Formats: sequence, structure tokens, C-alpha cells
Amino acid sequence: AYLQQLKSVEGQVHSFLTVNEEHALAQAAAVDAAIARGEAAGPLAGVPIAIKDSICTAGLRTTAGSRVLDSYLPPFDATAVARLKAAGAVLIGKTNLDEFCMGSSTENSAYQVTRNPWDTARVPGGSSGGSAAAVAARQCAAALGSDTGGSIRQPAHFCGVVGLKPSYGRISRFGLIAYGSSLDCIGPLTHSVEDAARLLNVMAGPDSSDATCSKEAVPDFTAQLQPVDAVADKCLAGLRVGLISQTIGEGVAPGVMAAVNGALQHLQQLGAEVEEVSLPTFDLGLPAYYVLALSEASSNLSRYDGVRYGQRASDDAAARDLRHMYANTRGAGLGPEVKRRILMGSYALSAGYYDAYYKRAQQVRTLVQQELQAALQQYDVLLCPTAPTPAYKIGEKNCDPLAMYKGDLMTININLAGLPAVTVPCGFTEEAGVQLPVGVQFVGRMFEEASLLRVAHVYE
Ligand code: GLN
Repeated sequence: AYLQQLKSVEGQVHSFLTVNEEHALAQAAAVDAAIARGEAAGPLAGVPIAIKDSICTAGLRTTAGSRVLDSYLPPFDATAVARLKAAGAVLIGKTNLDEFCMGSSTENSAYQVTRNPWDTARVPGGSSGGSAAAVAARQCAAALGSDTGGSIRQPAHFCGVVGLKPSYGRISRFGLIAYGSSLDCIGPLTHSVEDAARLLNVMAGPDSSDATCSKEAVPDFTAQLQPVDAVADKCLAGLRVGLISQTIGEGVAPGVMAAVNGALQHLQQLGAEVEEVSLPTFDLGLPAYYVLALSEASSNLSRYDGVRYGQRASDDAAARDLRHMYANTRGAGLGPEVKRRILMGSYALSAGYYDAYYKRAQQVRTLVQQELQAALQQYDVLLCPTAPTPAYKIGEKNCDPLAMYKGDLMTININLAGLPAVTVPCGFTEEAGVQLPVGVQFVGRMFEEASLLRVAHVYE
């Protein structure tokens, strides 16, 4: 049924780069057969899940949205994917993204532009836009995305689905194609908070293949979720919610603010105490992020040299010498936004500029982190919009990289601090006669996804 739905809307949405039809049907049949033999069904038995194409899948083409990986067939599964498979999930396909996860609209994909299912003239957000659109268009039951500076939460907000960025290190990054390694997180895009908790249950936990993956104990993330019929007025009594002042001022679309205010009122009805909290360093996060993420990217992307992975420029061009082969491969294989970022990152790391840019940005990162942590001592969760605007029109911002970067203001600091955050749909705003979804962002304490999801679930 999901494959049928996938195909019937794919011509309008363009969310998939690879549809895994044969294998998906075989996997589903194998799950059925195992159950028929009396074997215990895994917690995700038969659930069709789409995977962002920056996450490696054994024997299944993985491009990261880049021409340079056009023909790359990973010989292994990412740990998150291996755990989904072991739980019985069916991999229905690989979803579109901004090349190497660099972008906020999925327009930077080297392959296609994914459209927002709510209005196909608009972007689905990014960089996990294919995953968010696929969930919203019911082409899969859930999807994996990755979030370096908002790439799960912002597309969830644009497409009206739930998007969870877990704490840094909660889910192994092994097999996630690296962008900014100190910021990158894998996480689920789903229809409900409960589904997100179920996927997190399966994927979370230590992994000897990723030294940055945390050994923190993994609770059952569904255990604290209140049954829906137990959700009543005042059931969040005593919960302290801090609304981040710096995210509600000028520049936030009135329709986004109205939906977020509605969410605040709803939380108050549920008994939560809501207060504004000011984080004076909040605005410094954006420039610091773009120095750090691009610096890390410039180093991470040096591996695409035409030797170890994917495409190599034609032998003619490569014949002269090794340096030309590298240059031709990277020149032809990487897109304009990726090149821009490699240049900026290399610049920030170069001798003489390192102290002024990279080191300074690291210092700012510490300030942002400390301020968020202090606020989370005072409040159980922090709350803010996910992005200043709802989904915008295709082509509206992709000629102005700075305008696109600014849209990440509300999500980026959470990655700098490594905290968990979840975006949950909170209403709609009308633009040019179209109803567009809005998602509110809840931010929790480090490794406290269980209580974060509890609050989001009650709210939802
Ligand atoms: N839009 C941000 C960027 O382009 C975040 C992307 C992401 O989280 N992968 O860097």
C-alpha cells in the first residue's frame, strides 16, 4: 500500500532518489514468513521506512545528493539502519536532500527539487526535505533524517510532521556521511511523537564503530508517554517552560507567531507555567555555526578525491597528473553551494585566520552552550518557533545564501549545545490562500529525551 501511494504521488512531490521496490517487498515477505514460523516480531516488523540519502545503506545507492557519489554503493549499513532492519523495518527507499546536507530547502540537491506536499510550488525545507515530504505525503510510515543545524526540525515544521533531533551522541553516526562531525545527528521524522519514541528506542545506544556515540543508558522512550485518554487539563502541572525571547521578535512571520502563541496557551491549559527567558548570546550562534560547520565540512569533504569513493573525472582529463585528476573530479562532481562552503571553511581554518575565525567561533559555541544549559536548570523545557517563516516558494531564496542561512537562527544553537529538540505541528498559517503547517520546537536537557518526548506527546 505504501509503495502504491509512493508511486502515485511521486510525480508531484519528487521526494525519492531511489525506490527500493524489489528489496522492500522481499524484506516485507521475509518478515511475514518469520512471523508465520512463530518467530517473535521485532518492534518495527514490516514498517516501511525511508532513509535520507546521506545515510549509508548496504548495496543500495547512496548519493548524499551529490554527483560525486552518483554511483556509490556502500558495502555496509549505517548503525542506525542496521538497527532498524534488525527490528523488522522495511527500507522503502532513499530520500532527496541538499547536497551533503548543505542547505535549508532541498533545492541544492544535484538531482531534483522536492516539493512541499501542502503546496507543490513551495519547498519542503531542508536538508532532510525528501524525508519530511515523504512522511507528509504518506509515502512511508516514517523516515530518517540528519540534523547538523536544523535539517530534521525545519523540514518537519515546513511539512507538518514531527521531527526529532536527539542529543549529540545518542544515535551512532557510523555510516552517516559527514558534514559537521561535532554537530551531526541522525533522527526520525514521523507522524507522531510516539512513533518518534519507537524509532529512537530502536536506534539509540552505544556503538563501538563511533567513538563519539554516548554510553549513556538508554531508557524505554515510550514508557513515560502518557496514554492519550489520560491527557487532561493540568496534567502538565508544575512543568516550567521557558519561551526564548530572542526567537519571538521582529522577523518572525505573524502566522508563525500566532500558531506558537496558540501552543503556549495550550500548554498553559495543560498546567504548564510559561515564562519568557532571555538568552543574550542567542544571536551569536548563527555566525559561529557557519564558521564551525563549514570548517569541519572543508576537512570532511576532502575525501571525495576520485580515488576512494564514487565518481572520477574522465581519464582524459585525469591523464595529466594526480592534482588535475583531483581538481577535475571535484570541479565536476561538487555543486556550487558545496564549493562555496569548502572555500569558506578552508579560509577560516587557514594559518593567520584560524584564531580570528575558527577559535573565536569555538569560544562563542561555549558561551551559547553555557547559556542554554543555565536556562535548562531553571526550566524543564525551552520553547521557540522552529523557523521564522512557513515554507517559502521554490526559487525564492536560493539565489541569496545569506537569506537562506538566516532562516536557521532558531535551530542552530541547539546543535552547538548538543541538546535534544523536537518539532511538533502546532497549527497552520495562511499564505496566498494556502494553508501551511507550523511546528513549534521543544528543547530538552542533554540525554533527557524521555521527558522531552513526554511533554511533546501530552502537548500533541
Ligand atoms: N541549513 C543548515 C546548513 O545548511 C543546516 C543543515 C543541516 O542541518 N544539515 O548548514
